[in-house]
Amino acid sequence: MSEPYFRTDPYLSDAPAQVTAHTPEGGVIVDRPLFYPTGGGQPGDSGHLTWAGGALQIATTVKGKDKATDIVLVPAAPEALPPVGTAVQQRLDWGRRHRLMRMHTGLHLLSVVIPLPVSGGAVGEARSRLDFDMPDAPEDRDTLEALLNRMIDDDLPISERWITDADLAANPGLVKTMSVAPPRNAGRIRLIQIGDGDDMVDLQPCGGTHVARTGEIGHLRLGKIEKKGRQNRRVYLHLDT
Ligand SMILES: [Zn+2]
Repeated sequence: MSEPYFRTDPYLSDAPAQVTAHTPEGGVIVDRPLFYPTGGGQPGDSGHLTWAGGALQIATTVKGKDKATDIVLVPAAPEALPPVGTAVQQRLDWGRRHRLMRMHTGLHLLSVVIPLPVSGGAVGEARSRLDFDMPDAPEDRDTLEALLNRMIDDDLPISERWITDADLAANPGLVKTMSVAPPRNAGRIRLIQIGDGDDMVDLQPCGGTHVARTGEIGHLRLGKIEKKGRQNRRVYLHLDT
């Protein structure tokens, strides 16, 4: 299978593919997916497939049950699927995906202002959260929110780079972790970097979709901080615009 479009170009909202299989549950597998599959807190993409004489609404996207490398497009209703071999056009619900990219990138920044181990997380269009190993509540919420929004105002560039398993083993501190399992390809792992040179604020393995610059996120609002057990706190982040 070719490298998925969502990894090579997260801004692509429309792309061709060929149907390679149907799953027993009625899902569609294509040779080069545009749709990001649910993983590590980021929800799967929704949108449409169109082909000569047909169209299908896609409700969400998941990883394959048998082969984790399979990406399965899940129809919104049990309608006729494009037959195997059909050339289809994939079209994302771009408004939703772009909000998820903004929020997902915002969660990276949250893990910068709260530099504690992350035990879980969930990305939503308007509200997201990270769970931290945080025995004590933070003292100054306003400062945290101001620091977040300062990195957004600084409009820092976001880039990816790949390192080897050996590099990662030598730098275990890179894994915080955002819980979006990074793609591993022939012994290489994808890292997402925010900022450059002396302005680099974050570097961690991640397989999700991100915006190109922090300014594109828009201002974030720090929400509730809930106690979850003795050691953990759940921190909410809101995107109001
Ligand atoms: Zn990420």
